Amino acid sequence: MTAQPLEQVPHAFDELDLVRGVLWNRRAVVCLDFDGTLAPIVDDPVAARPAAGASGAVSRLAGHCPVVVISGRDLVDVRERLGVAQLWYAGSHGLEIAGPDGEHHVHEQAVDVAPSLDAIESALAGRLDGIDGVGLERKRFSVSVHHRAVAEDDVDAVTSAVDEVVAEHTDLRVVEGRELREIRPALEWDKGAAVTWILERVGLGDDAFPVYAGDDVTDEDALEVVRGAGLGIVVRNRERLDTPTAAHLAVDDPDQLCDLLDMISELFDEWAELPT
Ligand SMILES: [Mg+2]
Repeated sequence: MTAQPLEQVPHAFDELDLVRGVLWNRRAVVCLDFDGTLAPIVDDPVAARPAAGASGAVSRLAGHCPVVVISGRDLVDVRERLGVAQLWYAGSHGLEIAGPDGEHHVHEQAVDVAPSLDAIESALAGRLDGIDGVGLERKRFSVSVHHRAVAEDDVDAVTSAVDEVVAEHTDLRVVEGRELREIRPALEWDKGAAVTWILERVGLGDDAFPVYAGDDVTDEDALEVVRGAGLGIVVRNRERLDTPTAAHLAVDDPDQLCDLLDMISELFDEWAELPT
């Protein structure tokens, strides 16, 4: 692995020749995380909205190549938030995937863990009652415990409650995210597996050139997948400046990512005009 500290990753705007060079004559498939990548992080995840230029940027890009939005959110949630019909959407970290032409896939084993998720959801509601600012979010294939708004002294109580409750369920595991702990099915499945699966599904075969953009540690599985055979972009954030990333290039925020996506669309426009 050739991961480097996030701080040392070159800015994409300084490396546009590299972007042009790697995309030239390739059949790109652009995979994008949602929260923190296409949408600024907000305290209340329910209030998250795409950056101003996001819908336009992904629509334009989808006119040139498959665009896939991959999120820890439920599929219907992320699709409604972005509302662009021409895209692929992968919810629950890719456990459920839907394409623009009605393609749909749900991971079978994920369906089987629903009773365990129900049990920990109610157990955690009891354990975390009385801790101010904690957010318990049930999704189709996971339970997220947000502690962004919890007092520093109480965070340990939240995380140990999660670990203790989950320890009773061998079919579940805990994944640490950006100021949250997420309880997911204990499957060999992550955003990297989702990207691999989607690349097979979009039908470009070995010609597919994956581009992936994400901000969080959970995106590193996908960035690893594209490290050797595609282009990885990390959206910088203060909370993980010193953590390693497998991304090739960085942008500072979702607005800059949208600008970069527009620049990529312009490259495709320019190349489409070239005589063949
Ligand atoms: Mg994210």
